[in-house]
Amino acid sequence: MKTQSVEAQYYETQPDGTVTCVLCPRRCVIKPGQSGICRVRKNEGGVLRLPYWGKVSALALDPIEKKPLYHFMPGTRTFSIGYVSCNLHCPFCQNYHISQTTNYPVETYTPEALVALARQSGCPSMSHTYSEPLIHAEFVSACCTLAHGAGLASILVTNGCINEAPAQDILAHTQAVNVDLKSWNVEWYEKELGGNRDTVCAFIALAKRMGVHVEVTTLVIPGKNDSEAEIASIARFLADIDAAIPLHLSAYHPMYRYTIPPTPPKTIYALEKVAKQYLSSVYPGNIGIPVWFKK
Ligand code: SF4
Ligand code: SF4
Repeated sequence: MKTQSVEAQYYETQPDGTVTCVLCPRRCVIKPGQSGICRVRKNEGGVLRLPYWGKVSALALDPIEKKPLYHFMPGTRTFSIGYVSCNLHCPFCQNYHISQTTNYPVETYTPEALVALARQSGCPSMSHTYSEPLIHAEFVSACCTLAHGAGLASILVTNGCINEAPAQDILAHTQAVNVDLKSWNVEWYEKELGGNRDTVCAFIALAKRMGVHVEVTTLVIPGKNDSEAEIASIARFLADIDAAIPLHLSAYHPMYRYTIPPTPPKTIYALEKVAKQYLSSVYPGNIGIPVWFKK
């Protein structure tokens, strides 16, 4: 028997059966039978539905520092859940095999089943990570709500490209986020990645206002976002919200469509000094042995 997929929460309908998804700033106008840019929200007969509800591409137990979160439940492991697809198309995506397609082997879980597995694992938290969790906002929210009732913290590792109303809904059930602030260059963000810098900035500020623990990651790519002025702008923005927000400056390695050589460690260390003029906690990433590595 064919089961009908779950209805999405964030969309507007038009008289001709077209719908507008209002979950993220792309605001896809979707005709019947078609899906939005993120591929996981589909117009089925004038109703926006979620055919990838509960479709999980990966489950793992990770050190929480690997998310990376250095100031939230340090030394613990987190029950990590990956989904499929993304609303951005970063040409350097390290998880492109799950973020740029829905054609990846998945298993279907209910929120109840995932929370039960997380409890069995002994981890004190659940992380929604690997691909972009926010395009599955309704499912992730259901998991976070149940997790809270089960005494588990919920973590989002996200690109932060979500509109304010759904962001408020999901952050109300979230205890910590690591947000990618990929660049200060609005044009590069939009044209090359498909993202919106100001939306990400608003998400970071909202999360802080709502009392969620926030850490930020910038993947530093030679020739794209590795100028001192760019990193200073990012650090200044964060410091204006709270100078204690940890910033992770991660070294890029060639991946997916980018063949640019890796970021030299000396670049990361120089930018760390720049960011530390504004922020109290700045961490180099993807260089040498990670801090979370234990034998
Ligand atoms: S969440 Fe997906 S369908 Fe909705 S606006 Fe964003 S890209 Fe489009
Ligand atoms: S936002 Fe993250 S998951 Fe999505 S394409 Fe970019 S790097 Fe990959």
